[in-house]
Amino acid sequence: MSTAGGVTARRVVVLGTGGTIASRLDEHGAAQPVDSVGALVHGAGVDAVDGVDSVDGQGGVVVIARDLFIKDSSALTTADQAVIVREVRAALADPTVAGVVVTHGTDTAEETAYLLDLLYDDDRPVVLTGAQRPADAPDADGPRNLRDAVQVAADPTARGLGVLVVFDGLVLAARGTRKVHTHDAAAFAQPDGGPLGRVVEGRLVLDGLPAHREHLDADLAGLEPARVDIAAVYPGVDGTALRAFAAAGARGVVLVATGAGNANPAIVAAVADLARQGVVVGLTTRVDTGPVAGIYGGGGGGADLVAAGAVPLGTLRAGQGRILLVALLAAFGDADRVRAEIPTYLG
Ligand code: ASP
Repeated sequence: MSTAGGVTARRVVVLGTGGTIASRLDEHGAAQPVDSVGALVHGAGVDAVDGVDSVDGQGGVVVIARDLFIKDSSALTTADQAVIVREVRAALADPTVAGVVVTHGTDTAEETAYLLDLLYDDDRPVVLTGAQRPADAPDADGPRNLRDAVQVAADPTARGLGVLVVFDGLVLAARGTRKVHTHDAAAFAQPDGGPLGRVVEGRLVLDGLPAHREHLDADLAGLEPARVDIAAVYPGVDGTALRAFAAAGARGVVLVATGAGNANPAIVAAVADLARQGVVVGLTTRVDTGPVAGIYGGGGGGADLVAAGAVPLGTLRAGQGRILLVALLAAFGDADRVRAEIPTYLG
């Protein structure tokens, strides 16, 4: 335990991965992630002492900042995400750590948050945050988001809530959280639920608890080989993309269907072919809210897709649905087992 001013301090590890929170405008006016996480911690108004920073100067929270990499999150690979999971687990191996914050680009934060939520088995808080405006913007939102995230990670009442996204004053459970605006500071929401709480003047105020979560014991080395692609449904689409993904070695495909989870007879035929080849097809929708279901028939509806082997992904949308398939394939390998396990993880 650290002490400052005679008071036992809670230790929070902040892992940096890049994103807009770490970005500055280059000579062409384009935002590029360049700042180390140490710089972000300083920018959030945190005092630094030899790489160990005290957020409030009262000995309440000590921040240990460490860079994993500095990338735009749209360029992350599954291997990068596995590094984040590994380093979060490593940070939590220290029993004196109260919680972990990951600074992350907003574009794919929902995927990394959900992967972490599936793969970490600890009740201490893990919090993702970032920013919509670069660090050198006059109205940068990163400093406030980072301060809030650190306070939530250090807060004992956040224990047992799973991985959280803390952004623009909202506290959101990982599963079901999605980026809902390209530019606004209010970047994230739970379209099929609501936030778990808020950060008000630096304090966590909880309004609810997350839905039931299942831990998954997947080998991190198995994540990258578990290729899972995403295919869109639109008027006139045929099975070309689905078959091409299978031919490229996909072990899973998430089908982004229309409405409640519908397509057409050509897609149903391709789904049946993929299922026969042992490719897991998860069924989601391009609609913003609501669960998918096998309601419609007629040769191309959701009922036909399910009969052909597609597995409904509940309220998960493409990004997190893909992550679930990757993690299940890494954990269980066998396609039939993965299909059978999917409903357990939908809450
Ligand atoms: N493109 C950026 C990223 O995801 C966007 C952001 O961080 O807000 O890294």
